[in-house]
Amino acid sequence: MIQILENASLKKLNTFGIDVNARYLCLYKTPDDLRYLITEGPLQRDMEMIILGSGSNQLFTVPFKGVVIHPVNDSLEVVSEDADHVYLKAGAGLEWDALVNYAVTNGWGGIENLSNIPGSVGAAPVQNIGAYGTEVKNCIHQVHLVSFSDGTLKTISQQECKFGYRDSIFKHQFKNRYLVDSVTFKLNKKPVFNIQYGAVSQELEKMEEASLQNIRKAIIEIRGQKLPCPTEIGNAGSFFKNPMVPECEVLQIKQKFPELPTYQADNGMVKLAAGWLIEQCGLKGFSLPNGKAGIHKNQALVLVNLGNATGQDILEVARIAQVKVFEKFDINLEPEVIINK
Ligand SMILES: Cc1cc2nc3c(=O)[nH]c(=O)nc-3n(C[C@H](O)[C@H](O)[C@H](O)COP(=O)(O)OP(=O)(O)OC[C@H]3O[C@@H](n4cnc5c(N)ncnc54)[C@H](O)[C@@H]3O)c2cc1C
Repeated sequence: MIQILENASLKKLNTFGIDVNARYLCLYKTPDDLRYLITEGPLQRDMEMIILGSGSNQLFTVPFKGVVIHPVNDSLEVVSEDADHVYLKAGAGLEWDALVNYAVTNGWGGIENLSNIPGSVGAAPVQNIGAYGTEVKNCIHQVHLVSFSDGTLKTISQQECKFGYRDSIFKHQFKNRYLVDSVTFKLNKKPVFNIQYGAVSQELEKMEEASLQNIRKAIIEIRGQKLPCPTEIGNAGSFFKNPMVPECEVLQIKQKFPELPTYQADNGMVKLAAGWLIEQCGLKGFSLPNGKAGIHKNQALVLVNLGNATGQDILEVARIAQVKVFEKFDINLEPEVIINK
């Protein structure tokens, strides 16, 4: 039967390392567990509920009064294969990078560029995680779900997931309606390398050849240089989304700030680098007067827990960054991290 902990600390279940309690923390392994929660457990009482993977994209600002469901099913099996592909099914609770490592070790291509992204397999389709020119949607074959209404199982195809940039149906129509139980990935037995990204090709030049193992090694190396490790400094990666601004507005901003980096997007929109905007406000390395939270010294898009920060401390840093960027550039920064208030 499902393990249910009362008034449990979530400190180890969020990469900011914020110390808040949840009224109920439920460790999900099988669809039967969810059925129990709905029919006999705390979910029958219509309590507020969230699904928490590794908490690497979530900020807790207050204790959570409801039910936290934390998948711990970490199964991994090859379900079928043909001459070109292998179909690998992984449980939602498996650590994402353990899956990448397994695929690379077996010579199966497709997710190597997503090496070392923190988090769980279950969150990968929700977020449509991406890095270095690859998005996980390209390797997802099916997503297996359990319904919160009656605990039944449902499998949906890649197309049905409605993937977008860090977006999917799980953040919209399916939010709070389904739990991702497991995911089947379609991996390539004859990998095609995606190494156009500048930093990756430069790192690979230092190695003997391009191979899945070397791409993984290169990406782990680059990420280690760029991003603080959450086990050393609490953080949730990029805190804000890169703002999308209409082309005409960008021309105006460029008149005042000619060095503004811009990236052409679809529909006459231009993507701006949120980190650059924050850095221009002189906030790189900023910390609150209480010294508990701030902005990373090398990466202005990363908000950090400098020691015993509360979620409110991190929110205060975020607010300061938003106000300063708005005052200087007239641009609103929107959080990418999910804020539990
Ligand atoms: C240092 C650092 C670097 C990062 N780099 C990247 C990067 O390069 N690219 C990138 O895309 N992201 C990056 N991230 C963000 C993060 O790693 C991803 O968003 C990851 O997928 C979150 O996984 P998680 O298990 O921690 O999910 P959580 O943060 O726990 O949850 C994220 C969302 O998914 C939902 N969810 C989780 N599990 C399930 C499930 N089983 N069923 C239904 N819903 C579920 C949650 O309810 C929530 O809405 C980074 C984060 C950090 C800390």
